Amino acid sequence: MSKKKPRPTPVPAGSIPGLVDAHTHLASAGAKTKPDVDAMVDRALAAGVERICTVGDGLEEAESALKAAHDNDRVVAACAIHPTRAAELDQAARTRLTEMVADPRCVAVGETGIDTYWLAHDADGTASLQVQEEAFRWHIELAAASGKALMIHNREGDAEVLRILADSPRPPHVILHCFSSPLEVAREALERGYVLSFAGNVTFKRNEYLREAAALAPAGQYLIETDAPYMTPEPFRGARNEPALIGHTAKVVADARGVDVTVVASEVRETFSQVYGV
Ligand SMILES: [Zn+2]
Ligand SMILES: [Zn+2]
Repeated sequence: MSKKKPRPTPVPAGSIPGLVDAHTHLASAGAKTKPDVDAMVDRALAAGVERICTVGDGLEEAESALKAAHDNDRVVAACAIHPTRAAELDQAARTRLTEMVADPRCVAVGETGIDTYWLAHDADGTASLQVQEEAFRWHIELAAASGKALMIHNREGDAEVLRILADSPRPPHVILHCFSSPLEVAREALERGYVLSFAGNVTFKRNEYLREAAALAPAGQYLIETDAPYMTPEPFRGARNEPALIGHTAKVVADARGVDVTVVASEVRETFSQVYGV
């Protein structure tokens, strides 16, 4: 019998005002209906989280992300087909995604990119590298043409992501979500003007290199995110993640940068406004 995981206690209300969550999955985290979205957003607000970008990783999930963004003022959406599911990007999906991205409540094209991890671990259930690259290129062109930010998922695909971005049209903003790559990739990405978004894994003890990347990024080129329901930050690892828990990630990033957490909150809020145009 499996024990139900306890709901973690969020950061005390008001302790870090003005936080944002630049990338989360409200529906996968359990908020599928308007009352559930409102409740999750309210729990986040009680922990100081004022704005949330929710992401759909398939066509159906993108529809629900966009609906959440229409239903709740504090939520904006990102829409795309996840690289592992890139085979789902047929003509109908392209047509619908193009419409969704034109919606003012959709602020980014994502998550798209390259995932070789799942290709290695679940070859049957994961789109081939060739299909992923083709879908990635289509999403990049959509972001560039629509003037929306490009939100990238990169799991063990550093070389491919950097190569494909280098010879593609340039969207106004490029966000490397859940940044988990080595320092030299952080340096290259920052030099190119990309934004690094740090998730709960920046709080994990072994990931000193991510804290170094967080220290390296100038204001305007870093964000924080939960990527809920995964990547729960310390000290809540093992519990289900949600936007209310982002304060812990903010604190670790602030420590890495040697500044007060309120500085990180305000820099990230400003970057969120810039890249998402809200
Ligand atoms: Zn991702
Ligand atoms: Zn995600």
